[in-house]
Amino acid sequence: MTKKLVLFDIDGTLLSVGSINRRILCDALQEVYGTHGTADSCNFAGRMDSGIIYDALRPAGLSDGEIGQKFNSAKQTYCTLFRMHARETDITLMAGVRELLLQLSTHTDLLLGLLTGNFEESGRHKLSLPGLNHYFPFGAFADDGYHRNELPPVAVEKAYKLTGKTFTEEDIVIIGDTEHDITCARVLNARSIAVATGTYSLSQLQKHSPDVLLEDLSQAETVLREILKTSTT
Ligand SMILES: [Mg+2]
Repeated sequence: MTKKLVLFDIDGTLLSVGSINRRILCDALQEVYGTHGTADSCNFAGRMDSGIIYDALRPAGLSDGEIGQKFNSAKQTYCTLFRMHARETDITLMAGVRELLLQLSTHTDLLLGLLTGNFEESGRHKLSLPGLNHYFPFGAFADDGYHRNELPPVAVEKAYKLTGKTFTEEDIVIIGDTEHDITCARVLNARSIAVATGTYSLSQLQKHSPDVLLEDLSQAETVLREILKTSTT
């Protein structure tokens, strides 16, 4: 019987992609809208690709209506270009990630999923390059909303469809590298594990009071112990 739902962020938490990601988003927006707006400089960390497209293009003078009209085309262009150009050598796995996922996958009482600002197609491609997709049977993605706080209920619903179990707050752990991952855990009153492997330092993350704060995911036993704790223990 699955007891815990463990939702992982991708960028900055499981892996990093490097500059190719931003370059491809700029190229896709340029191709579809004739401008990439501020996509070459705006902050991506912890944010949804869907929301980033709007935020990057508004300063270029495009209205939400104009952005929305071509949104699906921009998304598809970005995902297609990303699959065409991103290679395994563009991906750096964070410390301990492969070992941790291997260990968690042996615990039949854990269901792993994704809660990420990536579109499903590009996020799955990122994970497929180092061979990690099979650990995550489902996920909540940028296809499911524009703000990260919309994703936790989506993930719970998808987990229900997969298992028939309604996971409640004490059953859910969200692991991520930014304040936005910590904040979205609060949407469900779920437990948050923050890792300082992305752009946020330990002290920056500490200010947002995660339930658990780790330098990285290299201590699998520690991560597992924290996952298995409930909010009240
Ligand atoms: Mg992240």
